[in-house]
Amino acid sequence: MKATRAEYEELIETLREHDRRYYVECKPTITDYDYDVLVFRLLEIEKAHPDWIVPSSPTQRVDEGQTRGFKQAEHLAPMLSLQNTYSIEEIKDFIDRVKKLTHLSHPTFSLELKIDGVAIAIRYKNGFLVQAITRGDGKKGDDVTQNVKTIHTLPMHLKEKDIPDLLEVRGEVYLSKKDFLLMNEQRQEEGLEPWANPRNACAGSLKLLDAKEVYKRHLNLITYQVSYGHEIPLQSAVHPYLKKHHFPVLESIFLKKTQYIDEIEEYIHFVAKKRHELPFDIDGIVIKFDDTSYYESMGMTGKSPRWAVAYKFAPEQAVTRVLGITIQVGRTGVLTPVAELEPVFLSGSTISRASLHNEEEVERKDIRVHDTVYIEKAGEIIPQVVKVDLEKRSKNSSKWHMPTHCPFCDTKVVKVENEVAVRCPNSSSCPAQGMRRLHFFVAKGAMDVEHLGDKVVEKLFESKLVQRPSDFYRLSIEDLLSLPGFKEKSAKNLYDSIQESKKRSLDRFILGLGIPHVGAQSAHLLANRIGSLKKLIEVKKEDLLRIDGIGEKTADAIVAFFDHPIHREDIELLIEVGVEPTQVKKSYDTDHPFCKKTFCLTGTLTKYTRQEATDLILKHGGTVVNSVTKKTDYLLAGDEAGSKLEKAKTAGVKIVDEDWFEKHL
Ligand code: NAD
Repeated sequence: MKATRAEYEELIETLREHDRRYYVECKPTITDYDYDVLVFRLLEIEKAHPDWIVPSSPTQRVDEGQTRGFKQAEHLAPMLSLQNTYSIEEIKDFIDRVKKLTHLSHPTFSLELKIDGVAIAIRYKNGFLVQAITRGDGKKGDDVTQNVKTIHTLPMHLKEKDIPDLLEVRGEVYLSKKDFLLMNEQRQEEGLEPWANPRNACAGSLKLLDAKEVYKRHLNLITYQVSYGHEIPLQSAVHPYLKKHHFPVLESIFLKKTQYIDEIEEYIHFVAKKRHELPFDIDGIVIKFDDTSYYESMGMTGKSPRWAVAYKFAPEQAVTRVLGITIQVGRTGVLTPVAELEPVFLSGSTISRASLHNEEEVERKDIRVHDTVYIEKAGEIIPQVVKVDLEKRSKNSSKWHMPTHCPFCDTKVVKVENEVAVRCPNSSSCPAQGMRRLHFFVAKGAMDVEHLGDKVVEKLFESKLVQRPSDFYRLSIEDLLSLPGFKEKSAKNLYDSIQESKKRSLDRFILGLGIPHVGAQSAHLLANRIGSLKKLIEVKKEDLLRIDGIGEKTADAIVAFFDHPIHREDIELLIEVGVEPTQVKKSYDTDHPFCKKTFCLTGTLTKYTRQEATDLILKHGGTVVNSVTKKTDYLLAGDEAGSKLEKAKTAGVKIVDEDWFEKHL
């Protein structure tokens, strides 16, 4: 293994560029495994040439960069990384090193899952959450307190008696696999670049400047360390301590204590089997020497403590061939290239297609028809082509390009500014868009029509029996019997399901319309606040903006949607055929003091998160608005309340605090 100084310096530059893409842009261009391979090469060089080591080397420091728009805050104790290993041999080496450093012949280790999220330090002063900081460069990080407060499982106030004046806990913010999938589907429809994996989606969300937007992303947390304020002699005792104080921790079946390498191996096999069932992504396990009293004296190497090591799972990959690249057109007209693959089995299922997202992605990875490719599952769910085996490429292969015209309606495609996607602008008569909208209308979560899967929708569309949503409700049993594969019973079942869906709740109906930017949560808000379909069609932007949770972009999209004559006609026709969305049932007590009252929230609440307080008000039939007007009944004011407090005083709005709020609940 020979290396030159130039290779060393170039490698550092390359890794720093990957760090920037990963930590700052949240858009990595290589897999974590490939990144780690480069780091191993760097470590090898540094081992052979210790005099070359520079402090800026990625092996010597953590550096997540700084995100514009956030204040920086100092850490109480350095926030480090972990040494990575991919083999049992290296774990044995780690155990030997611990034995040497501690002079113990049988050290005990605490085993945990390595959650693939974003590290966070959360501080409590006198039991109240005051600050949450990202790892940053290990010494200081971004103050993302408001965003972290949107995590509903995180306690805002620690009520037990034994809480120190200042306590800091650390953990990992993550996005569940399910939310990752939903978020990417939505991004694709909006013409935005999908996130590479749940970790990047989580990092990108945590660094949004608008906490309201962050709330919609459903971030989550698992804590695993007490870094300040309370010394716990064993790492294995940290989880019960955190649990006692209502912090979210790993399930106990994933927490193990052992002295034996065999049991560590067993644990690795156990986790490898179970990881697909977990709601969040993990990238390995963490092995921590259990006795924390040694930690300080054991010290660190480069940027990692000597008392812990991460065993990472090598990515599950499969090799296959690209048989073709086809185009899928979504309900909002976005053209998505899809790799049609030679079917191959990977992590529990057979894969025959993988979205290639957009032209830039195909170009960056230079994926061509007939190429041999490696595939993985992003977030363990979404198949993706990670790279091409260039050695197996045929000489006469040619680069792939996005078609200039929609393959379904031949309309010239357009590229919208600030979007990576190209779109077919023919929203009214492009058959592919029409069909996707029909799929969406009857899908689960929307009109939820049983027995009406994608294939049947396609048959109905191709036979021209159904071209717009209302046509579903005009279908007779005879029409259905005319479709291939339908018999008396199946036709009757589908007919009944379609009829039964006429009375779906308003929020589901709204979701089914496929209004851009309106997901299940916004649809629910609209149904609850606007109340009827008739009012919704005529809704004004300013009324929408008064709804907490509906932002500028969504409000514009809603107004534009109902301005479109085709959409109005679709709704009129649906009403004509008897579709009658029902109001969402409000099950609150009309005598409750919050019922029909309008609240505005300001300042830092300590007993509840803003969202908790909002949910409680909504649950009891109240409304929450963003700004104080004469019509506002109450201003719920926390600490450091600003201009809203002044406005409430002048407008004569009743100002209440959290104690009042709690009492009246
Ligand atoms: P790491 O992610 O490999 O390990 C350290 C982190 O693990 C800790 O900071 C902590 O946040 C987390 N963690 C999760 N569960 C934990 C638990 N139970 N106990 C303790 N810590 C736990 O290291 P890193 O320094 O955060 O990031 C480096 C890694 O990031 C690389 O090895 C690579 O995989 C990835 N990366 C990838 C790219 C890319 O371009 N693909 C670029 C930069 C970094």
